[in-house]
Amino acid sequence: MIDWLMDVFATLGHPGAWHSFRRVYTLGLLDEGWRYAVFAPALWLVLHVLLKKRLAHRLIGDWPRRADLAREIAYSVATVGVFAAIAAVVLALVVSGHAEIYEDPRKHGLAWLVLSIPLLMIWHDAYFYWTHRLLHTRWLLRRVHFVHHRSRHPSPFAAYAFHPVEAFVNGQVMLLALLVVPLNGYVLVAFGMLEMLRAGFSHATVETMPRRFARHWFTGRFVTTTHHHLHHEAVHGNYALWFTWWDRWCGTERPEYLERFEKVTAPPARPAADGAGVIA
Ligand SMILES: [Zn+2]
Ligand SMILES: [Zn+2]
Repeated sequence: MIDWLMDVFATLGHPGAWHSFRRVYTLGLLDEGWRYAVFAPALWLVLHVLLKKRLAHRLIGDWPRRADLAREIAYSVATVGVFAAIAAVVLALVVSGHAEIYEDPRKHGLAWLVLSIPLLMIWHDAYFYWTHRLLHTRWLLRRVHFVHHRSRHPSPFAAYAFHPVEAFVNGQVMLLALLVVPLNGYVLVAFGMLEMLRAGFSHATVETMPRRFARHWFTGRFVTTTHHHLHHEAVHGNYALWFTWWDRWCGTERPEYLERFEKVTAPPARPAADGAGVIA
């Protein structure tokens, strides 16, 4: 133990180690940052600007204010900084042989390659649900998680709008997975994009899914924008990220969820023709 600590201190005191860390950290910033820099503005531009009028009848609550957008972007940039530091630690684990990110898709079998994405979603969902429940305990909600809840009507820019402590907690998902299983590099890139899209759509404030989605036996198991929007609106309930099952098993799904989903996905009311509907 002492030897190991001495090695760590010797490494930290070496200027070369800091030079390497800076390089890895910069790469981590680019790797974590590009997803946010591309997907969050793209979703906002399409859903909140270009299709704003078309999607107005699908607005779940209200459009976010400019001040919300600025705050969400500032906290998200800080989150990218935290994620990049964790990515540097992941790389150190790979280099030291404690974790494996492999290139050849056949190395651990095609079955593992295909299964690893849904399994990562299931793991991420469970990790997010339970850490989110923890963040909703009084002390952590007041001091840490309140940052995310300042967006009552969020925008896609809120995808990474966390207090740095929450960013640190959320950033452990992949690191913990890699301590247990090997993961393909392309799977990590694909999952990172899916995760960003999920987080962006969860904060879109307009429901984009079809009417029957939430009550369907299969698609109803996936979280929708309405599902997470109600979490921001009511602060409690609907804690999940990917799937609805943890909230249903634990009795934390908002009771109005399905009704609100149907209301917001109802066809827009057509303007009545002259005289139509007027009771004489
Ligand atoms: Zn919350
Ligand atoms: Zn949120």
